[in-house]
Amino acid sequence: MAQHLRLFIIIVFILTKLCSSSPLVELGLVTPTATPDPFAHYRVALQPKFRDDIESLPPLPRYHITVQLDERQSRLNGVTRITIPSPDSEIVLRLYPNLSHYNGSMNISRANINQIPVTVNPLDADSTAVRLMIPPQADGSLSDMAVVDLTFSLDLGHVPDSKGSYTLFGWDGATLSLPGFYPTLAVRQAGEWVIEQPPSHGDVLFNEVALYQLDITLPQELIVVASGVTVNLINNSNQTRTWQITGGPLRDMTVVAGPFQALSETGAGATITSYYLPGNESGARDALAHATAALRLYSDRYGPYPYTELDIVDAPLNMYGMEYTGLVMIGEDLYRNQREFLRFLVAHEVAHQWWYAIVGNNPYQHPWLDEGLTEYSAFDYYRGVYGQPRAEALLTGHWYIPFDQAMQGGIDGRVDRPAREFDSTSYQLLVYAKSALFFNALRIELGDETYQQIIQTYYAENRYQIVTPKHFLAIAERVSGQDLNHLAEKWLR
Ligand SMILES: [Zn+2]
Repeated sequence: MAQHLRLFIIIVFILTKLCSSSPLVELGLVTPTATPDPFAHYRVALQPKFRDDIESLPPLPRYHITVQLDERQSRLNGVTRITIPSPDSEIVLRLYPNLSHYNGSMNISRANINQIPVTVNPLDADSTAVRLMIPPQADGSLSDMAVVDLTFSLDLGHVPDSKGSYTLFGWDGATLSLPGFYPTLAVRQAGEWVIEQPPSHGDVLFNEVALYQLDITLPQELIVVASGVTVNLINNSNQTRTWQITGGPLRDMTVVAGPFQALSETGAGATITSYYLPGNESGARDALAHATAALRLYSDRYGPYPYTELDIVDAPLNMYGMEYTGLVMIGEDLYRNQREFLRFLVAHEVAHQWWYAIVGNNPYQHPWLDEGLTEYSAFDYYRGVYGQPRAEALLTGHWYIPFDQAMQGGIDGRVDRPAREFDSTSYQLLVYAKSALFFNALRIELGDETYQQIIQTYYAENRYQIVTPKHFLAIAERVSGQDLNHLAEKWLR
């Protein structure tokens, strides 16, 4: 592999030299060739219509991550290079595995920026966020590019064969779940780094989109499911395999590995694959059918899905699901029973591709924005695929009745609040049910057509961005031409 790469680099170098020698070109001795596309390998994760999305955005950070699992399978060792265009004087990284409910432990043992060693300063007691100062250039000015080289290790909280009941991160039985397994650039909003620790009932990952290359080496019996696409698979001599994965713009690069089997289908221009553990094939078939139908419906109704792949993975999450970019985890219990809830949960998690992965928002400050719209997207899915009566039944059973019970139990309250101000019950009832009812009230007041225009505009104008509730409400008022403050007051505040 290395030999081929070296040869390729030499050929590219010679061609570049030849093509830049303009006299040869002018004499017609060399045909001018186009500059090699620096984004070619990221674009493979995008459908042809969206291959120029990378250029439509300001220059994006690039991650090149290389990790391998150690022999005891309890630690990932890795290096990563993060290339950051136009950096400030400092960068802040999130080390998500250090969150208490992730139960991992990440340590950066070496950090260089632009080849100069720098210190890693923890910003909280658990080191879930660290700061690195960017060394100024020789003339004292800020660099126009920061190349950050990190060596890191990650102790996994669980070891293989320890089977828990709900495991978001680390080993559970033979499945290894790795959301946020690499040092991740923190988001800066309104001039402040977002470094708070989310509560265990809220979502964890909050990232800007970036371009990713990942080389991950794991025991050969594990099948890797990841955001982006696998472009190469190398069998190593020591019973391991290296999976080379790439893609962008992606909001996260998440990996799940396990002894999976797989079923695939195509829809909305993408390949949808349902990965399952032995014994769960029938549930996986249902999950695949729901995911394919949902991907098609949301693409038609909200705007197209830009990626070439969507993976649905059987994961150790009981009856819950979790969304990542191009990858959805569905709790294993739903593959065995509660198939009706599997239908709903898949519809919910697939909608997160629109409302989390592509249109992002701060899940610590305004979790209702993506959760409420994702919940209510399932109404569109049920109505479009199964008809109005089943959609109405969903509205009543999933949101009206729970919200009614919440009010009777004295749990009603403000929806637009940070995740940490809820407990797990009020989070479920208000951030999911009540905020779904806000979107329902919006649709009923404005009519189906205007509601759909609002959602389409919101999606089209904010792809790959981070939005706030103000953005959503401003678009709703602009598209409908109406003052909607009374709805926001009633349902959100
Ligand atoms: Zn959700």
